[in-house]
Amino acid sequence: MADLRDKTALVTGASRGLGRAIARRLAADGATVIVHYGSNAAKASETVASISAAGGKAYAVQADLQSADGVDKLFAEISAPLDIVVNNAAVFSSTLFDTTVDEFDRVFAVNVKAPFFIIQKALPLMPDGGRIINISSGVTWFAVPELVYSMTKGALNVLGRSLANTLGDRQITVNTVSPGTTHSDMNAWLRDNPEAQAGISGITALGRVGEPEDIADAVSLVASADARWITGEVIEVNGGFYLG
Ligand code: NDP
Repeated sequence: MADLRDKTALVTGASRGLGRAIARRLAADGATVIVHYGSNAAKASETVASISAAGGKAYAVQADLQSADGVDKLFAEISAPLDIVVNNAAVFSSTLFDTTVDEFDRVFAVNVKAPFFIIQKALPLMPDGGRIINISSGVTWFAVPELVYSMTKGALNVLGRSLANTLGDRQITVNTVSPGTTHSDMNAWLRDNPEAQAGISGITALGRVGEPEDIADAVSLVASADARWITGEVIEVNGGFYLG
């Protein structure tokens, strides 16, 4: 278990899904967690309440990461020290011919532009030895029809490597956690679809669909002091997806 006592962690998109599990895990490790959300205040309150009930510390901050001033709004509520940033919030996209120019801009705004400017705003508040963790996706290496979403995750993978090199002199690590198919609202189609679940389980070495906690535990690992020598990596967290 990581010892994150006296650390503060920002987790974007922590009202639901993977972000909620990451927030809960980092809080269980001892961090004070800033539970960011876009519009779902009730779900964000549930995340905070569950952390408090378990003896952890957390508070919620709203900011629409699609809007031009979203990142500024988020950082109006954050002060130093900010030790850990987890860029988790994201939106899915349509397929090739259904994608409009507005949707293209929206998906890039939430999935790429916001993480970039969150990092830019976070760095002056981050002590040396901090952690930046971006949540990507396996769709960077297996094909899906939702092209713009995949492109945004590819951008995060590229960002991580160069940023890790840029920040190395401050002992800040930058890693990219790349989940496989995981139960969440983004994958609501899987929930009541035993056939699809069986299909995914069948091409996963460990034989099941991922749970948000599987991803949260990997994020905790990368956030820990023991991960001090791991930087610039894309870490696939998928139970052994498509191994052959
Ligand atoms: P969900 O759709 O379940 O949750 C998305 C989160 O992002 C919510 O907290 C939501 O806030 C927030 N969000 C969405 N749009 C905005 C916005 N405009 N401004 C601010 N916040 C916003 O997603 P998952 O939990 O499934 O995904 C989490 C991460 O994991 C994403 O980066 C995703 O790409 C990645 N991933 C997920 C996989 C999966 O199988 N589930 C697989 C691979 C990667 P609110 O509740 O307020 O709307």
